Amino acid sequence: MSRRSSDVVEAKTLRWVCKRVYEAVQMDDQYDFDAVVIGAGFAGLYALYKLRDELNMRVRVYETGDGVGGTWYWNRYPGARCDSESYYYCYSFSPELAQEWEWSGRYPEQPEIERYLNHVADRFDLRPDIQLSTRVTAATFDDATNRWEISTDRGETVTARFLVTAVGCLSAPNVPDIAGLDRFEGEVYFTAKWPREGVDLTGKRVALIGTGSSGIQATPPIAAQAEQLTVFQRTPNFSLPARHGVFLAEHQASIKSNYDDIFAATRTSFAGFPFSPIDRATMSVSEEEREEILEELWAYGGFKFLWGGFSDLLIDPEANEIASEFIRSKIRETVEDADTAELLCPKGYPYGAKRPPIDTDYYDAFNRDNVTLVDISANPIEAITPTGLRTALVEYQFDAIVFATGFDAMTGSLLRIDMRGSDGVRLADKWQDGPRTLLGLQVAGFPNLFTITGPGSPSVLMNMPVAIEFHVDWIAACLEYMREHNWTRIEATEEAQDAWVEHVAEVGSHSLFVRANSWYVGANIPGKPRVVMPYAGGQPTYRERCNAVRDAGYEGFEFGADVRDEAVPAR
Ligand code: NAP
Repeated sequence: MSRRSSDVVEAKTLRWVCKRVYEAVQMDDQYDFDAVVIGAGFAGLYALYKLRDELNMRVRVYETGDGVGGTWYWNRYPGARCDSESYYYCYSFSPELAQEWEWSGRYPEQPEIERYLNHVADRFDLRPDIQLSTRVTAATFDDATNRWEISTDRGETVTARFLVTAVGCLSAPNVPDIAGLDRFEGEVYFTAKWPREGVDLTGKRVALIGTGSSGIQATPPIAAQAEQLTVFQRTPNFSLPARHGVFLAEHQASIKSNYDDIFAATRTSFAGFPFSPIDRATMSVSEEEREEILEELWAYGGFKFLWGGFSDLLIDPEANEIASEFIRSKIRETVEDADTAELLCPKGYPYGAKRPPIDTDYYDAFNRDNVTLVDISANPIEAITPTGLRTALVEYQFDAIVFATGFDAMTGSLLRIDMRGSDGVRLADKWQDGPRTLLGLQVAGFPNLFTITGPGSPSVLMNMPVAIEFHVDWIAACLEYMREHNWTRIEATEEAQDAWVEHVAEVGSHSLFVRANSWYVGANIPGKPRVVMPYAGGQPTYRERCNAVRDAGYEGFEFGADVRDEAVPAR
């Protein structure tokens, strides 16, 4: 080979090697992130925006659904509507977004919130960093590199310095363990996984199982469509009328001109709503005045009933019983058949101990000829049969069964991922007696994992977007702090976590929530430890605590650096 041709070969080889190295770097780049976020609902979208656009991080979001929206992607059952008012159930981080978006009315329906979240994804160009139709199946922390290795159901494995869960508190549907479900020959639907293309129940005999917020919302529209609807109720609920209405132009304008104050109020109030509870005890007014106030609240609709008339409904059992009896009287007034009305009246637990639903025409639906209520509190559903279902007393025939049976709340969506922390410890093992977190934000033994609205934070007891924004901002500030100090590892200490878990339990034990069997305490899932999972101490106390921790240099958390970077001391 001449000198000239060997030069050509060498140059070619060099080019080939360079190309392979370049590709390898690209490949590595493609599979290494600063942060992986799981979920593209309210929390995941904001986390991506914050970490990518404000902290300049390389972020990948994985989302199981084939669209963004999280809760508002999956829960598209008939009647699905938010129970918080639109103008504050939204992001506050972008004043421009708040000014641009037009909410059509008081309580937005699922399609409107889904449209809003799609608009957010487009407006902030989030889509290129979101991988849809991909479920994260496993995540393992590598102590040697201080990175997470994350696997998906598409067979991919990527690594990330930080893992941020934005999986939602109510996103792992509860499929009740009822014998024979797989043998049913009709149609089966879950409100939490309603088919995207919609369902036509016209002319069908439909069973609806479950009377929580989802079942209560779905009842009237299904009743209006189906030939016959049978609602199977295990526990009646205290549902309040929503009194939905469209926004007039002047209402829109007034909201927009006051948005700074509205958002500021959401950040200081007890539960993230832009209102201050009234300071008036139930017993401080006469019986007539009390009745008048409760009537006004009933006519106004929504959650104002809880805080807008009296301050002690959730504290004083006598006050609570007065409000509870008022709601029962409204049920009896609305439902024509006295036996049905009585079955619909909740007894044995106080109003507010379960998450209070709000509805549009729920109780009226039972006045229709094609709607029947079946009380299964004493005679549960024994089996699904090929043609319907059976209790101990009766066998029913149905064309379709709708399960509105709720969620494995707060922990289910995290534990369905095979999550392994330092030394391979499994989250499922760590949490076998109930969730343990520091501030609902981190878990000892799981470095570099952040759990947006995790158990142990106010989360579901708050207006969710407010809880989410606070968490994402706190996490982002923490990551900036780590960057400034060249730390690559953060972990909650066991001591700080133990103290927080004890505090959450103590506050929870004094709350109303211990007095009902609800998803707040895990009672809806057989075998789940009974623990008040959300922090019941209210937003102001919680924010104060989180901010104090931050201001004290993240007290209760330990930082470290990569082993190869010895110049940076661990703290
Ligand atoms: P849920 O409140 O847990 O209600 C589930 C219902 O299914 C309950 O009535 C439950 O009875 C019943 N159930 C469960 N397993 C059963 C079984 N094996 N046999 C018979 N009945 C069974 O669930 P959800 O209605 O989906 O609501 C969950 C939460 O999501 C709400 O509390 C709310 O926070 C949120 N949500 C919000 C909205 C909104 O913003 N508008 C709408 C829907 C949901 P028991 O009560 O006896 O357990």
